[in-house]
Amino acid sequence: MDLSGKVAVITGGASGIGAAMAHAFGKQGMKIVLADVDAAGLEKVTGELQAQGIAALGHVTDVRQTDSMRALADAACARFGAVHLLCNNAGVCPLGEMMAAPLEEWRFVMDVNFWGVVNGVREFVPRMLAKGEGGHVLNTASMAGLVGMQLFGVYGASKFAVVGLSEGLSRELKPQGIGVSVLCPMVVDTGLLASTARLNPTASDAVVTLDKDQLQQVAGTVRTPEQVAARAVAGVQRGDFYILTHTEQAELLRKRSQRLESAFVKD
Ligand code: NAD
Repeated sequence: MDLSGKVAVITGGASGIGAAMAHAFGKQGMKIVLADVDAAGLEKVTGELQAQGIAALGHVTDVRQTDSMRALADAACARFGAVHLLCNNAGVCPLGEMMAAPLEEWRFVMDVNFWGVVNGVREFVPRMLAKGEGGHVLNTASMAGLVGMQLFGVYGASKFAVVGLSEGLSRELKPQGIGVSVLCPMVVDTGLLASTARLNPTASDAVVTLDKDQLQQVAGTVRTPEQVAARAVAGVQRGDFYILTHTEQAELLRKRSQRLESAFVKD
């Protein structure tokens, strides 16, 4: 996809990977619309983009709400005329044992991580198709959406759903000129656990807290949001479907694939 002069909407854009993608796509000449529930964070990142000469608009949005996503799409189109790249990136991640998670927490995670993506796709893709200028959807899932992991159970379930949605959507939209990518990082140095704790309505005892060093021990290399954003830009430009960022995690995928293959029994 040729990015220059095009318009990107990035949910979860007030911090972390979303903010880094805003800078990275902005540097490619894209106009940026940031969406997040964090109004102060949105204002800060939008100001930083504008200070770099990047055309940017911040719009307070709750991806769980269809009305809120419609207002976001309306605001983006009113300001910039069209949307060519939708980054469904907003997410939450309460770590903990699945069996200890209250039902409200399951709903909270699925509402943001899964339904947020559904709402984005349902609101923006018809507008891309109607405009007839092509387009691309980039969904942020996780390595936890490709391999089941302990403590990432509820989160992983939501991210597996995003990977499945993306695989099907890619096949469905390709003939119509809309690309789809799914971004699956392992651990990235962001405030994800803190923002989740702030937004989580359950304050559940089930949530486990791990600092950066502990996360590194559990899950290996910690990448920066900027490294992940650079991969996202290159992946969208090339039209890659899977965008994987932590090379050393290939072993996890290999083992999963071997387990699957060995599950076929010759009758
Ligand atoms: P982050 O906390 O910096 O960013 C997440 C953003 O989503 C926050 O700004 C938060 O306010 C926003 N958000 C949460 N609920 C929302 C809602 N209902 N509507 C709109 N915005 C909402 O964390 P991050 O690590 O940059 O997370 C970005 C994405 O990357 C998430 O989908 C996350 O699951 C995924 N991811 C992160 C990691 C990691 O290790 N940090 C690894 C794999 C995948």
